[in-house]
Amino acid sequence: MTAKPNLVVIGTGGTIAGRGNAAVNTSAYQCSVLGIDEVLASIPHADALANLRAEQLLQTGSENFGNAHLLVIGRRVSALLAQPDVDGVVIAHGTDTIEETAYFLHLTLKSAKPVVVVGSMRPPSALSSDAALNLYDALAVAADPASRGLGALVVVNDEIHTARDVAKRNSFKLEAFGSPYGPLGYVVEGVPRYYRRPARPHTLDTPWSADALDALPKVDVVHAYGALDRRVIDAIAADARGLIYAGTGNGNVSESLIGPLRDAARGGLRVVRASRTGSGVVVRNGAQPDGAFGWLTVDDQLPQKARILLMLALTQTDDPAALQAAFDRY
Ligand code: ASP
Repeated sequence: MTAKPNLVVIGTGGTIAGRGNAAVNTSAYQCSVLGIDEVLASIPHADALANLRAEQLLQTGSENFGNAHLLVIGRRVSALLAQPDVDGVVIAHGTDTIEETAYFLHLTLKSAKPVVVVGSMRPPSALSSDAALNLYDALAVAADPASRGLGALVVVNDEIHTARDVAKRNSFKLEAFGSPYGPLGYVVEGVPRYYRRPARPHTLDTPWSADALDALPKVDVVHAYGALDRRVIDAIAADARGLIYAGTGNGNVSESLIGPLRDAARGGLRVVRASRTGSGVVVRNGAQPDGAFGWLTVDDQLPQKARILLMLALTQTDDPAALQAAFDRY
């Protein structure tokens, strides 16, 4: 018989810690009211999987998470992973921005130990809540040695996703999450099964460490449409270091904004063309002469992921070629 792993379960709020007035309240409820101890206590047989220690780090919906929250979570998870008696960490998190926190951890943790971010679409009080099963599955994934070295994982709805790719794609259904290239694996009857590994570098193979970050530079995202007013661009250029332009289709820029975005880039704002479509690559120097305009392009990163990546990259360089290399590599 092998010893059970030691897992720390961090609570940060969200629907997984929510409570509704009635069991039919699957989408209308109070978020972030249950402590992580209470949530964990409701999971049957959880302690058969691992020795569990709960820790309440935050208690708020993830729509409120700013850069300071990312840094708090990153530093705490990093400190826990550095402890020899901690074998893995599970973070219970709101689903709205789970993909950003997970990607931030994926790029900044310096450990091969399993890190699993989990949320639920329905609070524990709702009919057919996914809270208990998702949390159980997250514990099972974090307890599994096969989860080592995969970077941060997001476990929801029977699936194990890489933090790089996963995104919330539906506002209320249980089947809300997806990755453009599919999940890494499933959790079946409480047992993880992997079918693939992340292809891009993460955790130990990136230049960023959660421990070394005191602040993140301001990077904004703009959701584009033909009538978008240049004043939005000008306002961002006034105080941000970077702008993710979630353009239409292949990151397309309306004619009226080519001049403002080109001027903003000349003025030092790092402008990144991304796509608002939700998947696919943006072709560099395709529809626009990105090199000549001083613009960067994502590879396939969604705008919200590109924001995390650009913030991290800007902590070490302002050189456009080096920043572009980060989009091509991670
Ligand atoms: N607003 C919640 C949050 O992201 C939604 C959820 O957890 O599903 O924290």
